[in-house]
Amino acid sequence: MDLSSFRVQPGPVDLTSHPTSGSPGFDGDKAAGKDALAAVAEELADLQERLVATGRSAGDDAPSVLLVLQGMDTSGKGGTVRKVFGLLDPQGVRVASFGAPTPEELAQDFLWRVARTVPGPGQVGVFDRSHYEDVLVARVRSLASPEEVERRYGAINDFEAGLRAGGTRIVKVLLHISPDEQKERLLARLDDPTKHWKFSPADIDDRALWADYQRAYEIALERTHSEDAPWYVVPAGSKWYRNLVVAQLLRDELRALDLRWPAASFDPDEQRRRLTEQDPLA
Ligand code: AMP
Ligand code: MG
Repeated sequence: MDLSSFRVQPGPVDLTSHPTSGSPGFDGDKAAGKDALAAVAEELADLQERLVATGRSAGDDAPSVLLVLQGMDTSGKGGTVRKVFGLLDPQGVRVASFGAPTPEELAQDFLWRVARTVPGPGQVGVFDRSHYEDVLVARVRSLASPEEVERRYGAINDFEAGLRAGGTRIVKVLLHISPDEQKERLLARLDDPTKHWKFSPADIDDRALWADYQRAYEIALERTHSEDAPWYVVPAGSKWYRNLVVAQLLRDELRALDLRWPAASFDPDEQRRRLTEQDPLA
């Protein structure tokens, strides 16, 4: 599947020109999509094991990958983390989700809580919401002054460039849904007591600001998209398709690391001889 159609182009971003539903570029139904995901999962597992192995042998010099997930409420950030990162070895995964900042966090620069949560060498990290909230909700709800919001785009670009220079590949995904889809999903949450924990009355207040949020996303994407930290806008109306696309984006980042199995620090023949000659009960 060609993922480049989801990649943001340099220049102004118009989210209305990006699809929110369907399975563009995939020639198959839901069952075929799940089969395709299983195939990607196998490759992901192999690539991630190489990354973990590299982390063990190369230490701080090992690379890492960070996936940033953004989207309106119900866009499927949590579900994507479960379905895509659930395919990986949890030992090599770092998951962070960002809610409203605590008083401790508010006393620091907005990037403080993010910087201490990035994936370490040999890890794959995922952010469920991220530092982008500080130019999204912060902008829409005036949680910071316009000058401060303005400053943050550049601060984010510098921060991400620093991560990249330190060996972290970054890929950023907007899970794109329509307001109608969100309404269906919020209603489904209200209809099901086992989903009430996912609902917040504030979601309806945020929904009232839909156009403002879309505009804030367009500005954020335009100002923080780069060759080294690209944005992808993924149609998220169909969950299986969303999982398949995000899994492939992650796989492509891992592929790009071109990971080799680390060479042994011992001589396998010598160790085989020792093992064969040994009688532990003697
Ligand atoms: P949820 O992801 O549904 O659990 O909700 C998390 C909430 O935290 C959302 O309403 C976000 O807008 C809010 N949030 C996340 N990061 C920030 C931030 N930096 N400043 C203010 N609110 C935030
Ligand atoms: Mg919410």
